[in-house]
Amino acid sequence: MPSRERLEQAAEQWRVGVGDQMAFAARMVGQGAFNPAQFQEQMRGMVKDLQVRMAIFGNDGTRDGLTQRDWGVVGRECRTQYAYLNGFTQDIVQRQQLAEAGAIDPKTGAPYEVYSAAYLENRAQLYARAARATYERIRTEHGGENGDELVWTLSAAEHCATCLERDGTVARRDSIPFWPGQGTDCQVNCRCSWELVD
Ligand SMILES: [Zn+2]
Repeated sequence: MPSRERLEQAAEQWRVGVGDQMAFAARMVGQGAFNPAQFQEQMRGMVKDLQVRMAIFGNDGTRDGLTQRDWGVVGRECRTQYAYLNGFTQDIVQRQQLAEAGAIDPKTGAPYEVYSAAYLENRAQLYARAARATYERIRTEHGGENGDELVWTLSAAEHCATCLERDGTVARRDSIPFWPGQGTDCQVNCRCSWELVD
């Protein structure tokens, strides 16, 4: 079995690679090269592949031992992301319509402009970064015995208030109350993890 470090690097590289593809799709929809429906379909495919890939890396690099329950986690996470993606796509469509109609943005008093490429790219990449939660969950649940005690551990990065509050929380491997990036202010930027209490 590859080391945790290697799996983590591979998972990170995968997220970065897919994030770049997502950014590309967003740039294309911004330029009108993809229509919003095509964008949404492409993004859904990438979200799903990435979520599956994160479960595999979180396991041991293979599908062996991934359970029905694990695939249920992946499926639910995909549906959550698809719902965000619906909102994102609707925002793009709505903004294009407002800009075309020459509507005035009440916040600025100026006409609406379509979203910038940078905005679209950043927002699209969130779907790749969000997949770390799936990786961490599968890694944690498959990482040892059910009864092991694990502690919420801050990464070397900066921390949001929620992660600081969680710092030092101890839970059994089979009853982890919350996952990195889930319910935290830092959201997809969370780098925290559950580690074995020594
Ligand atoms: Zn965090």
